[in-house]
Amino acid sequence: MLNLILFGPPGAGKGTQSEKIIAKYNLIHLSTGDLLRSEIQAGSELGLKAKTLMDQGLLVPDEVVIGMIDHKLKTHRDAAGFIFDGFPRTVKQSEALDNLLASYNESISVMVALVVDDNELLARLLKRGLTSGRPDDQNEELISKRIQEYNSKTKPVADYYQAQGKFVPVDGIGEIETIFSEISNAISAVK
Ligand code: AMP
Repeated sequence: MLNLILFGPPGAGKGTQSEKIIAKYNLIHLSTGDLLRSEIQAGSELGLKAKTLMDQGLLVPDEVVIGMIDHKLKTHRDAAGFIFDGFPRTVKQSEALDNLLASYNESISVMVALVVDDNELLARLLKRGLTSGRPDDQNEELISKRIQEYNSKTKPVADYYQAQGKFVPVDGIGEIETIFSEISNAISAVK
């Protein structure tokens, strides 16, 4: 199995690159942001609770997203592999993911991190906000809060996988195809 974490701050291009990776490697896409937005759309209790936090640019509790990933791994036992997008976002989530995969005799193959500076992220997210309809893309203060959450809680996840020798940084500024080809190289190295 190929289990890839596509890592990077909000606006780094994870969604765009995920689509291309899935098409090439036939992986199941697990985006906790998308899963949470589906829960909100469905009006579930989980969705309502998550929305309050998401609308403030804050992370939802670890147990909530770990539970969703656990469920998805169970329902896709015959997958060629998974691409984790927007997960794990804390070290606790990373440990839980490693444990879940270990229970299937699996592990993370590689973490590819898209590197984009904060000014570029802010500009991209404000632009995305014009068409995405996402409440959390709508103003500078909220976007800054999300980037701040990333820098304080999520960045340590990179060190966690670096310590396992699985961390590959990729420049996230440039042509979509150039970035994709660098990601493909990182995948080829572990496949
Ligand atoms: P995203 O679509 O990945 O930008 O996520 C949108 C929002 O959903 C984030 O700002 C968080 O509030 C929440 N979220 C998504 N994934 C996670 C996660 N792995 N852990 C905690 N909160 C998350």
